[in-house]
Amino acid sequence: MPRLVGIDLGGTSIRAALATGPTTYAERVVRRRTPAAAGPEAVISACAAAARDAAGGTPDGIAIGIPGPVDPESGVVFAAPHLPGFESLPAREMLSAAAGCPVAIHNDSNLAGYAEWVAGMGRGTRTFVFVIIGTGIGGAVIIDGTLLVGTASTAAEVGHVPCNTDGPLCGQGHPGCLEGIASGTGIARAAAAALAAGEESQLRGITPLDASAIAAAARAGDPLARRVFADAARALGRSFGALVNIFGPDAIAVGGGVGSQVDLLEAPIRAAMAEIAFDAPLRRCRVGQAELGSDAGLVGAVAWAGRTFLRD
Ligand SMILES: [Zn+2]
Repeated sequence: MPRLVGIDLGGTSIRAALATGPTTYAERVVRRRTPAAAGPEAVISACAAAARDAAGGTPDGIAIGIPGPVDPESGVVFAAPHLPGFESLPAREMLSAAAGCPVAIHNDSNLAGYAEWVAGMGRGTRTFVFVIIGTGIGGAVIIDGTLLVGTASTAAEVGHVPCNTDGPLCGQGHPGCLEGIASGTGIARAAAAALAAGEESQLRGITPLDASAIAAAARAGDPLARRVFADAARALGRSFGALVNIFGPDAIAVGGGVGSQVDLLEAPIRAAMAEIAFDAPLRRCRVGQAELGSDAGLVGAVAWAGRTFLRD
């Protein structure tokens, strides 16, 4: 078997692993700190070194997930918010030159969604939507085994759909989109605003006031925390309803740190989906938690390496 390496590049760490099968990798995962502040050349060269380390020599192929919008065909990264200098960067060519082998490149959320489709919650589905809810909201859409890329190569940005014309700005500056309301950032901001307005809550004085602290308060019955989560879940559910109408998916998997608060989200999401979705596709669409957790990025990169370099 050719020595194929998957790399999950993040703003703080790089993980690289040798593929041992279509969706599996060697037990030994190479981890390195991302030298983000040192610029793109340093980051790319750290990725190449991690890949060689994982392969025990020059790999036969690498697939890498990038935390930002990417054109998989040209290999250019448009931007990566946590990686200074990754702007219009020909990252695939740079990594290929540094590592001495062919490279496939994709957006990290897309690869995580691909992983959920081949080896996680979306196994066996034809049409599958993956939504990852953390600091921001990302996603992937897979139709008959094909990752939807789109002409601008940034398709499947399911976090950036309109929810509320008067809503807060998301990380990209869109007023009232889903990410501004239902991401970890949006949830924390809504709670902070209610506290600043003088509302009573056990959250007062809690630092950091983040989505997991708010989830804990909601479970303890705190009305403000419960309302903030209910608002986020309703926005998510209505957006999922729209996804059902557009794609008719067999399943929607929810991942990420906020997405793991299933007990608070699942029922209100399902209820809000019914506000928007057509009955027949809604009945056929499973909604559930993603199965691979933080492993999804690396599984996706390994699987994408196999898919890219083992064809024909
Ligand atoms: Zn947005």
